[in-house]
Amino acid sequence: MSDTPTTDILSADAVDALRARVHDLMPQVRVDLEALARIPSVSLDAFDQTQVEASAEATAALLEAEGLTVEIVREGGRPAVIAHIDGPEGAPTVMLYAHHDVQPPGDDAHWDSPPFEPTERDGRLYGRGAADDKAGIMAHLAALRAHSGKLPVGVTVFVEGEEEIGSDSLPTILERHGEKLRADAIVLADSTNWAIGEPALTTTLRGMIRVVVTVTTLDHGIHSGMFGGPVPDAITALVRLLATMHDDTGNVAVAGLKEGVAADLDYDEARLRAESGLLDGVDLIGSGSILSRIWTKPSITTIGIDAPTVATSSNTLVPTASAKISMRLAPDEFDLDGFEALKKHLLDHAPWGARVEVHLDDRGNGFAAHAQGPVYDQARAAFADAWGVQPVDIGVGGSIPFVAAFAEKFPQAAILVTGVEDPDARAHGANESLHLGEFEKVCVAEAVLLARLGALPRG
Ligand SMILES: [Zn+2]
Repeated sequence: MSDTPTTDILSADAVDALRARVHDLMPQVRVDLEALARIPSVSLDAFDQTQVEASAEATAALLEAEGLTVEIVREGGRPAVIAHIDGPEGAPTVMLYAHHDVQPPGDDAHWDSPPFEPTERDGRLYGRGAADDKAGIMAHLAALRAHSGKLPVGVTVFVEGEEEIGSDSLPTILERHGEKLRADAIVLADSTNWAIGEPALTTTLRGMIRVVVTVTTLDHGIHSGMFGGPVPDAITALVRLLATMHDDTGNVAVAGLKEGVAADLDYDEARLRAESGLLDGVDLIGSGSILSRIWTKPSITTIGIDAPTVATSSNTLVPTASAKISMRLAPDEFDLDGFEALKKHLLDHAPWGARVEVHLDDRGNGFAAHAQGPVYDQARAAFADAWGVQPVDIGVGGSIPFVAAFAEKFPQAAILVTGVEDPDARAHGANESLHLGEFEKVCVAEAVLLARLGALPRG
C-alpha cells in the first residue's frame, strides 16, 4: 500500500450505497446475532465446554455461507475459527478478529431478562455476549455480506474461543497458523466507542504485571505480650512496605517507570465518580489528567493479603505475611522492565531489615499503536462516513493480551482496535447490552473500511 494520505478515494455515492445495503442486511444480522447469543459459550473451565464447541461451529457455518474457506483449530485450548476468502489480484488482505466465547453470566437474579435469551428494550439488545463479542463477529459478517460476491480486499476472519480466559493458546495458534492470518491490516473488534454517536479507535492499552511479595521477620510466631515492643511483626512490616509504593498524593512512587500522554478528551471528576462508585468525601489519588491516570500512567493496587483472618487471629506476632500486587504499566513499557522496577523498589524499601521476597505471578505487554498512515487514514474516514463525525483516539486502562500478541507477530500490519461497545454496554456485568443504532453504524463503518482499503493505490 502506498503512503497517499488521501481519504477521497471512495465516492459519496459508493458510501451511500453501502450504507443502504447494510441497512437492508440488518434484520438478518440481528437474527444471526441472537442465535449466537443464545449459545452459552462460557470458556471458563467450570462451564459446559460443548457450548463453546457449538458457538465455534455456528460461527464457522455463518462464514462458510458467505463463501469463505473455514477451519476450526485447537491448539490445546478452546476452538478458534479461521476463515479466508481471496480478494481481487493484488488487493490487500484484511484480517478481522473477534471472539465467540463469553464471560459467565453471574447471578441470574441481577439480570432483568435471562442472560442467554436476547431481549430488546429501549433500542438495546440485552444478553451475555450480545455485545462482547458476538456483535463483533456479526459486524465482520455484515461487512462481508455488504460486499457479497465482489469483495474489494482479501479477507481472513479469526474468531477466538478463549479470549475471556486470557487467550492462553493464542501464541501457539499464531505460531502454527500464523501464515494463514498474515494481513496488511488487522481489525480487532473487541473494544468500545467513546459515547453514543462518538466513534473511537483504541490506540493504547496498558500493560500489566502481577507479583506476590512476602515479608518475613521471625522464624515462628511468638506471644505479642511477651515480645511486642522491640520485635517487629510481619503484617506491620508488610503494610509499611505496601505504603511506600505511593507518595502522599497517591502517585506511584516506584522509580524508573514510563508514563505516557493520554488523548485530550473530556472526562471529568464527576463522571469518574459516577462510573466508579467512589464514595462522597473520598479523594481521587495521583496527579495529571484523569485519563492519563487511567490510560497511560502506571498504577498499583494491592489485590489480596495472606495473613490470619480477624476471626481466627490470636495475640501473636505473625512471622510472615504476603500480598498480591497488580501493577498497570504505561502502554510502551516492556512488562519485565516494569517488574524489575517494582521488585527493586520492594527490596530497597524493606522496613526494619525484614526479609522481602518478590515473585512474578503474571505479565502482559501493553499496546501503543502507530496510529498514522494510509490504513488509519482510511479507518478514520470510514468512521466519519458512518457516524458523520470524526472518531477520537482513546486508551483502555486494562490489558487485552491478544492485541500485544498480534502486534508482536505481525509488526508490519496496521492494527485497528475497534469495537461494538459503548459506555453503557456493561460487558462482563449483568444486563450486558448492545446499542442497536450504534451497531448498524459499526457495520457500515467496517463495510466502508473494506471498500476504502480496496481502493487504496497499490504499490
Ligand atoms: Zn471481548
